[in-house]
Amino acid sequence: MINKYKKIVIKIGSSSIINENTKKIRNVWLKSICSDISLLHPTKKIIIVCSGAIALGSKYIGNKKFVRKLEDKQAAAAIGQIELANCWQNSLKKNKINSAQLLLTLEDSEVRRRYLNVRKTINALHKKNIIPIINENDTIATEEIRFGDNDRLAARVAQMIDANLLILLSDVDGLYFENPFKNKQAKKIKEVYTVDSTIEKISSSNPSALGSGGMSTKIWAAKICMNSGCSVVITNSNKKNPIRDINKSNSTWFYANKSPKTSRQQWLSNHLHPSGTVVIDNGAVKAIKNNKSLLPAGVIEVKGKFNRGDVIRIVNNQNIKIGIGVIAYDSADAKKIIGKNSKEIEKVLGYEGRDELIHKDDLVK
Ligand code: GLU
Repeated sequence: MINKYKKIVIKIGSSSIINENTKKIRNVWLKSICSDISLLHPTKKIIIVCSGAIALGSKYIGNKKFVRKLEDKQAAAAIGQIELANCWQNSLKKNKINSAQLLLTLEDSEVRRRYLNVRKTINALHKKNIIPIINENDTIATEEIRFGDNDRLAARVAQMIDANLLILLSDVDGLYFENPFKNKQAKKIKEVYTVDSTIEKISSSNPSALGSGGMSTKIWAAKICMNSGCSVVITNSNKKNPIRDINKSNSTWFYANKSPKTSRQQWLSNHLHPSGTVVIDNGAVKAIKNNKSLLPAGVIEVKGKFNRGDVIRIVNNQNIKIGIGVIAYDSADAKKIIGKNSKEIEKVLGYEGRDELIHKDDLVK
């Protein structure tokens, strides 16, 4: 069922990867999901968002089932994350897959400059066929600035990298009209095309012992993904090979209503307050019309004060709007590299920046 999707985020909750009683990694299960992943890799781009650091580390902090105090959670995460990452690295390695760890905070998805950096890093890893394993940076995230649960984090990551499928592994087969743990007769919803008030109502949370999300954060995640061109599937992770075995009876599908390109372009086109303007020459106008990136060599003037990652208007020398895009340099640096070719950038700025001032993927005409 997931064959047609090319860029896939797989979100694994604590209750899937950690044994609730022993607070240890479910190694046999991990081995099976790594073998599922090896069937997809490298023809598809895979990103793993995995929880479990706090659950794994908590046994070193106290004997209690839940670690409650923030500093204890942070300490537990610091202990658990290293083990979590190690297990992934070893398991994937056995399938000849290299992996990398990224620990993100909310700001990394909210501040455009940081968002851009994360995206570039993930793309660079994918180019080398390395699978990024992501978790929240729980050790430094305080309550006010946390994603709090990895359903949200996974949805943000999916949005950030224009994924077309997010797989949410859960302890249930999907979304039910009633709580399936309380009512064995509860009916499952197979497909969702819009998250309306009925869906929101029935998703009233059903938190599992280890995870923190429950169903309502999954629905929130589905909603933002669907609007960004990314479909979402909620499926059960209790059994081995949870990805290979996704089928209609053990999952709920939320279908995207737009393609990633369209939604990203929409986000850019709808930008109301560009932070600055770049005036470009006729050669650059032609290049942009031919779907090329904007290089510093084609820029005549940079107007305004902006940061790297801000949205900027692109105009020709008659002040006619050519496009809008996300700029890879702040205004001070952008001004310094006007008219320069890519090889000269490092000499002028003293660091190796990007070749493009605005990459074609970050630009709409
Ligand atoms: N980031 C947390 C951890 O690794 C988990 C958050 C969640 O349960 O979704 O323990």
